[in-house]
Amino acid sequence: MITLEQVAKSYQHQYDALAPLSLEIAAGEFVVLLGSSGSGKSTLLKLINRLLEPDQGEIRLQGRPVRDYDPVSLRRNIGYVFQGIGLLPHWSVVDNVLTVPRLRGDDEDESYQQAFDWLDRVQLDAKRYAQRMPDELSGGQQQRVGVARALASGADLLLMDEPFGALDAITRDELQGMLKALQQSLNKTIVFVTHDLFEAIRLADRIVVLHQGKIEQVGSARELINEPATPFVENLFSKPLQALDDLRLR
Ligand code: ADP
Ligand code: MG
Repeated sequence: MITLEQVAKSYQHQYDALAPLSLEIAAGEFVVLLGSSGSGKSTLLKLINRLLEPDQGEIRLQGRPVRDYDPVSLRRNIGYVFQGIGLLPHWSVVDNVLTVPRLRGDDEDESYQQAFDWLDRVQLDAKRYAQRMPDELSGGQQQRVGVARALASGADLLLMDEPFGALDAITRDELQGMLKALQQSLNKTIVFVTHDLFEAIRLADRIVVLHQGKIEQVGSARELINEPATPFVENLFSKPLQALDDLRLR
């Protein structure tokens, strides 16, 4: 579904954000970009929906270079959810969910009904919340609306940039479970950014470990833990596992 070939991005000096890297993401895959702050995760995500343009290399979506797509319609067809949520504050919940269907000129009554269904699917009681304003919802509920909005766009591909980063652990756990179940039942492709190791393990089919703009390793959590390709990956997993193990009573 997505192919990145020798893609690089610099802001101030050469390769300060991403060194040339290649990656393939299959349709229906849940891929997590895992790395610390500044490792290039957001940059990589924004290159896919052309919020940024690469300095070199090529990104293809369904075999077609993204630069051949009109950026506006490209972004309309790729769901984008991020930590700051980006719900329009002066629009009700349902109006936010209807953003893309309305831009597309879809049938209003049908879209409205579907928006209610999407809210229910992200486990937000539509009857109760559809007419509320975003600031009348908790952070977790707002993120549910963000996910519903991305799904209501009909996008097969969702890009998610630390969407649950600001949530408490219990709410985050609920949203992770909801997202994983939806992704599997709807067969969406998701590229999800996090710096949280446990979130990556919980969600990912494959984890891409990024460090200083380079890919350290790509693989399932099991592969990364059992066959780390670099000392960085080895440390990433062994330190927290060791810390947990140290607490175990013997
Ligand atoms: P992450 O999302 O993993 O925290 P980013 O992709 O945002 O990382 O950033 C990667 C690198 O590029 C960092 O060193 C960051 O400081 C730098 N960077 C990001 N955006 C800009 C920008 N607009 N101007 C200059 N440097 C930037
Ligand atoms: Mg970021």
